[in-house]
Amino acid sequence: MPKLTVVVPAYNESEGLRDFHARLAAVLDGMDVASEVLYVDDGSRDDTYAIMCALQAADARVSTLKLSRNFGKELALTAGLDHVDADAAIVIDADLQDPPELIPTFVAHWREGYDVVYGTRASRAGETGLKKLTATGFYRVMEKLSSTPIPRDTGDFRLLSRRALDALKQVRERQRFMKGLFTWVGFRQLSVVYHRDPRHAGQTKWNYWKLWNFAIDGITSFSGAPLKVATYVGLATALLAFGFGLWVLGKALLFGDPVRGYPSLMLVVLFLGGVQLMALGVIGEYLGRLYVEAKQRPLYLIDAYQPSRHD
Ligand code: UDP
Ligand code: MG
Repeated sequence: MPKLTVVVPAYNESEGLRDFHARLAAVLDGMDVASEVLYVDDGSRDDTYAIMCALQAADARVSTLKLSRNFGKELALTAGLDHVDADAAIVIDADLQDPPELIPTFVAHWREGYDVVYGTRASRAGETGLKKLTATGFYRVMEKLSSTPIPRDTGDFRLLSRRALDALKQVRERQRFMKGLFTWVGFRQLSVVYHRDPRHAGQTKWNYWKLWNFAIDGITSFSGAPLKVATYVGLATALLAFGFGLWVLGKALLFGDPVRGYPSLMLVVLFLGGVQLMALGVIGEYLGRLYVEAKQRPLYLIDAYQPSRHD
């Protein structure tokens, strides 16, 4: 019988975790695959880990993994996926925004031979207009810039086959934009459309500043386009400056050179200063990431790992 591991990253999810497990377990019970659930506690500050351990005591399918501190969802996911030895893994959020009821559909497509089956959101209930708007904008920009086409409106909710998992294990970069990496591995991929529910309990861990940084991480790890912007803005400015120079020279030759031109001087100085700082900033974003990679720190540290009591 094929084996399936469901990887669930959780950070301060004590409020909803039991309900989540009940719903997930009901779905898994009705399936004809051997299944395991791997809960990854991403350094929660509430009793999420204690609840995980209680779930593990009550259900032989459950494994628990506790990270040494909060590393963020991307790394919690990586840690979880690194510990999967099954034939396929499912990645799902602990807040019931991704319906566990979709798992059998994912598995059916996997049996047809797909390596990555991902959920694409047709709607996002319970999220503000601004969040939807910024999310849509982000996916559109990503689509234009990225060298790897990242599917629209797709989160981390998906199934990965053994070879997709093995491929992903070889990717050890520290700036992990998981939905980009999931696509990057290639193989046979399939999208399944679903309706995203509102959060079942607890709070979202994301605010706009975090989302903004997440977006910059995504763009810098999958596109060098911002670096080119500096080149072209520089080129355009140089051309403009050349034309302007000719005009100033001609005017001085024809009409003499009374001391004027303070406004245009200020304009040019300020404009160039601004452009240069911006270009430096863009370079800095990439350099900073290079610095993080160069340090070669481990991606995450494990506090405790308790495999399931299955087989
Ligand atoms: N999460 C995590 N570490 C973090 C932040 C979030 O493991 O630092 C988990 C969280 O517990 C949840 C999933 O990632 O299972 C998605 O988080 P959230 O619901 O806050 O994100 P949103 O759905 O609002 O994008
Ligand atoms: Mg959520």
